[in-house]
Amino acid sequence: MPRKAARPSRSGRDRGALDRYLHALLLLTDHGQQADTGDLAAKVGVSDAAASQMLRKLASEGFVELEPYRGAALTTNGLHRALRIVRRHRLLEVFLHRTIGFDLDEIHARALVLQPAVDELFEEKLDALLGHPTVDPHGRPIPGRNATWPKLGDAPLPSLPTGSAGVVSRILAEDSAEIEYLHRLGIAPGARLVLGGVAPFDGPVTVRIGRSDVHLGRRLAQAVYLEEDRVAARSDAKRR
Ligand SMILES: [Zn+2]
Repeated sequence: MPRKAARPSRSGRDRGALDRYLHALLLLTDHGQQADTGDLAAKVGVSDAAASQMLRKLASEGFVELEPYRGAALTTNGLHRALRIVRRHRLLEVFLHRTIGFDLDEIHARALVLQPAVDELFEEKLDALLGHPTVDPHGRPIPGRNATWPKLGDAPLPSLPTGSAGVVSRILAEDSAEIEYLHRLGIAPGARLVLGGVAPFDGPVTVRIGRSDVHLGRRLAQAVYLEEDRVAARSDAKRR
């Protein structure tokens, strides 16, 4: 059972750490699933013990709900706060990329550093300066001011039927090495591709770009979202 939490100190560093976890939880539970401690630890880059300690703290503050053996889910409060954090993060990424000229694989880490300094007024001015953008430089949606998550008509590659064709709408990987690797393969927002096949038992996902086939691990493929063409050319996809 959760211990009675002492009143947390609200230093900027504390808040930065808390925000990082909420941000990760939002991405892990984006499709209604629960996040387990291991996934969260991997996403934030900390030990399982640190992640589980932070989960208890977030639960005691009413941001997450913990279910034994199932994992954590954001409460309504937690969701609102997480959407706010992601909004600020993605606005910063637009600023860093478009205004200052940092490369796509650099902006995530830099945005994390700047984030704790962004308050409500900063957020408002940044949004206006950038012309109220709706997607970040990776093509991912920026939550609105009212903390809403725009509904998009795309889906992660492994969830689509073989032969699905369309355009990459966004890439949910935050790791710069993963993003760079995908870019080298030609997989970036706006790229056209066909889903060649999804191997069973968590096997690799085959993607056809132009005339070549590339194979992605399941976890990486999960980060690639495809907006399907209305008339999918499913018949000419080779079955594997
Ligand atoms: Zn980012």
